[in-house]
Amino acid sequence: MGISEKIEELSKKADEKDRERARENIKKILTYLEDYDVEGLEELLSEIKDLSKSDLYKKLIIAVTTKDKFELDADYLEKLEKLLRRRMLKIAFDNLRMGGFLTFIFTDSVITFKDILTLYTFIESVYYMNLDRPANWDDTLNVNFSGLDERLIFALDDFDTVNFDDLPEPTPEYFQKLRKVRWNKKAKKLYEKLTRLMLETQDLVCEHTGFTVWNSNYAPTEDVFIQVLSACSAVNDGRVEIEAEDVIRAYKTFFKLIKTNVTKYKAIPERIKWLEKQNGYLVCHDCGGYYQLQPGESPDDFSDTCECGGELKYYEDIDWLLEKKEDSKSEEVINKNSKAT
Ligand SMILES: [Zn+2]
Repeated sequence: MGISEKIEELSKKADEKDRERARENIKKILTYLEDYDVEGLEELLSEIKDLSKSDLYKKLIIAVTTKDKFELDADYLEKLEKLLRRRMLKIAFDNLRMGGFLTFIFTDSVITFKDILTLYTFIESVYYMNLDRPANWDDTLNVNFSGLDERLIFALDDFDTVNFDDLPEPTPEYFQKLRKVRWNKKAKKLYEKLTRLMLETQDLVCEHTGFTVWNSNYAPTEDVFIQVLSACSAVNDGRVEIEAEDVIRAYKTFFKLIKTNVTKYKAIPERIKWLEKQNGYLVCHDCGGYYQLQPGESPDDFSDTCECGGELKYYEDIDWLLEKKEDSKSEEVINKNSKAT
């Protein structure tokens, strides 16, 4: 037996040991949860069991941990960021703590701005998971402007049946409440047990793939997604304390979401109107010539000099220029008329 075969055999034994350990841990957690009296827990546990037997979880884990799922033109990305800042994320940014290590130590805020960003990472991943081709610009728009974020935040596991127009507007007050949300003891314990159970399940479904779940960013992403939705469930119900039922509802949402082909949620036309407008114009002040930038074009793609030798400048709109041209045209007409007389 060569060295490589020997190593392979050893690692198979290690895998076998890991699997055994995972199964034992799962059993322990399940025994503990049996005595837990929360509505909906039983169904949830059977969902988790089913998940461990299907390919779905592996697919999701791969999608979440794939980097650069949506490759973007830098110019588009800039515009997209500008717009996102104006909407939900802007409100979240203004009203939540930033998140990170220091927040963790010095505050007991459950939900930070970083957590809201993770929610978007998760939505992106679930969208990406359902594509059987590389993502394109339309996909980027769909992910960001379909309102699926609002469906999840405000309707949770009813995200697919709720009437979009019935959802409330995201407000500063909403995120201020979200900032105040705390765990109650029973909910925290349940959350800890369930995240542990999911981690063991991740280990089971990823066996022999060479993928080490424990070192990856998958589990934290899923956990934060559950935390954010648990907190939203509490706030939607007028509370600032997360109860065990909120955790169950968050997981129910998670399971429904990963089984839904979310590519059906298309960008809402009125939310992407800005795309048509913002291309802008290059204007030459010497000859009055102008060029309208096409989608995907940036002023940086062009030289600063007009064909006439004048300097080209960038403007978002040229209504002023067109008006000026109209005026000078009528002046011309007047001049001609005066000459004729
Ligand atoms: Zn010119």
